[in-house]
Amino acid sequence: MKLDTLNFSQLLENYSHFKVSSLRGRYLKEEDLIKEFKALSHKFKIKNEGYSEEDRIISSFHLGHGSRKILIWSQMHGNETTTTKAVMDLLNFFSLYKDITDSIFDLCSFVIIPVLNPDGALRYTRANANLVDLNRDASSRTQLESQLLHRVYTEFQPDFCLNMHDQRTIFSAGNNSFPASVSFLSPSFNEERELNINRKKSMSLIASANLMLQKFIPNQIGRYNDSFNLKYIGDFFQAKGTPTVLFEAGHCPRDYGREDTRKYIFLALLKMVQDICLDVKEELIEAYFEIPENKKFFNDVIVRNVKSEDSTIKDIVIQYKEVLENDRIIFVPFIEKIEKNIPSFAHREINADEQSLILEKHGSLKVGDVLSSFKVNNNVFVI
Ligand SMILES: [Zn+2]
Repeated sequence: MKLDTLNFSQLLENYSHFKVSSLRGRYLKEEDLIKEFKALSHKFKIKNEGYSEEDRIISSFHLGHGSRKILIWSQMHGNETTTTKAVMDLLNFFSLYKDITDSIFDLCSFVIIPVLNPDGALRYTRANANLVDLNRDASSRTQLESQLLHRVYTEFQPDFCLNMHDQRTIFSAGNNSFPASVSFLSPSFNEERELNINRKKSMSLIASANLMLQKFIPNQIGRYNDSFNLKYIGDFFQAKGTPTVLFEAGHCPRDYGREDTRKYIFLALLKMVQDICLDVKEELIEAYFEIPENKKFFNDVIVRNVKSEDSTIKDIVIQYKEVLENDRIIFVPFIEKIEKNIPSFAHREINADEQSLILEKHGSLKVGDVLSSFKVNNNVFVI
């Protein structure tokens, strides 16, 4: 495997060769992560960067000796684990493929923080232990985790920042029926959302990764809107003059464990590392803006054409709520809306053909109810 001729289709085919298979699904157990950190610590330098608000260790990996410095952090939102899986796969990939890794490490240095918010990770919450959203704490830095990231940034002085997140299932890539399976943003550095050399660098990295991903998930890549807010960590680092890329791992059809998305995030990460190593100077600004903007046009499930008690025909929108139960995430289906002709798309559509739903318990359906199963037209549906 050579750096300048990386074959992304082959990497996808052989993903199991370097996937950290003990880390899977939506909830990553602390002990499983620590086990993997230990295994990787025999290959790479791992550092205790400091402590979370509840005194959990925040670890970082320090790799490479090249002049181009890349800072990557994941799970600043505790319930966003997909990018952590991808980052762990990247570390494992580096540990297994010496040829390509040697050439990457000659050109680049990395600091990688797989879990920035270990307290939120344990509880599977977005916020940290003090209920603060760390991605709104960049400029005021009231929390230990924000102070830690800022210190690492100041000491390391990265040339690129990669800010890794998960997004909800509600996003479409543009105004159409494609889910936003992966989304990106080159954050703004000012209110005017101007372009400068650094923003153009992150836009070009994104456009290039998008081009590669289109082959595997055509039309399923979105771009976030670039309104500016210094409280956001990406905007903050971009304003400090570091090209920054926001990653958002989204939904692929039938992939609630986000095991498919993890692979696409890995591929995009490696593509960006490749472009940084090869010093790709091509500006892909137009290509960046051609990526459709993320829109909230998706739902988890829509049951169409349901005959309600008053005999009107309505659609029922169901969204899953992720609930942590015995170290696993349970997807609880809640009714979000009951309305006529709902225009949005769904990852799963069921047509009730103007029949009533037969429920396990009698009674009418209302917004906020859990709807786990029903019968219609002699078919049983489990949601
Ligand atoms: Zn997030």
